[in-house]
Amino acid sequence: MSATILDGKKLAETVRAEVATGVAEFVAAHGRPPGLEVVLVGEDPASQVYTRNKQKASTEVGIRGKLHTLPASTTEGELLALLDRLNADETVDGILVQLPLPKQISEQKVLDAIRADKDVDGFHPVNAGLLASGRQGLVPCTPRGCMKLLALAGAKLEGTRAVVVGRSNIVGKPMAQLLLGANATVTMAHSRTKDLAERCREADVLVVAVGKADLVRGDWVKPGAIVIDVGMNRITLADGKSKLVGDVAFEEAAKVAGAITPVPGGVGPMTIACLLENTLIAAKQRLAKKS
Ligand code: NDP
Repeated sequence: MSATILDGKKLAETVRAEVATGVAEFVAAHGRPPGLEVVLVGEDPASQVYTRNKQKASTEVGIRGKLHTLPASTTEGELLALLDRLNADETVDGILVQLPLPKQISEQKVLDAIRADKDVDGFHPVNAGLLASGRQGLVPCTPRGCMKLLALAGAKLEGTRAVVVGRSNIVGKPMAQLLLGANATVTMAHSRTKDLAERCREADVLVVAVGKADLVRGDWVKPGAIVIDVGMNRITLADGKSKLVGDVAFEEAAKVAGAITPVPGGVGPMTIACLLENTLIAAKQRLAKKS
């Protein structure tokens, strides 16, 4: 194995420590901690784990993290009414609604209803628009974490050839915007892309966010490239046990790449660390606007 392994767990600890310092300064200046409200609708087991982790991580850095657990039968109107309350509450700086939502609730309506300046997931159209036009808003946590991993890898993004596989609103598109903002030459690939392997081989920086185990093989990777694997796929092994893997065939790619993120322990921990960072940023920006 020749690639440098990009340790997202360790980098996330550094980010969390920085956020904890920032939170202490915020408390000293404003007499209260930043507040993050996480909303979970229904009993999806993975979502329960994610939301609990988010609340716990926020409390650990001094953010006032609150988890709202609503039954799966919650109506769209009830959820929108809760968001109205949280939008109006001056002690709430960040609001996050865990996806997916039960089918009677429109995800788009709900995401649009969160105040843009409290939208710590960065999914609101205003924040998406600000990012697309190169202006300052709240940036989605996963791509933000990927940019920090690229900095850890020492990536020189200006003029470099970057390929992003996956074009979702929450990962692929904002990732491509951030790379473009850093002056990379960006190709976005997706399920209709022709010659995907060939496109990937052109990449000095390859970010993969698809959700298909081992889609990207070792011979798709340019020697020395930096590979960021966002994918999280649970596969069942021959012995019946399950394992979390990425979208990149790690063992193969690590022989060719210059640097690569592992799964788990790469992008995942950075997503939560960046959520905490976004909460602090949202709190500071909103209070600065008021003063
Ligand atoms: P989506 O399902 O929303 O998007 C997947 C994207 O992959 C789509 O743009 C789709 O193309 C593209 N795609 C599907 N099949 C192929 C293929 N065979 N070749 C090329 N592109 C393909 O997923 P998300 O963006 O939400 O998530 C992607 C992965 O990242 C998942 O595994 C998810 O679990 C993980 N994830 C991890 C996070 C973390 O913190 N580590 C956070 C968020 C997500 P098209 O648009 O044409 O359909």
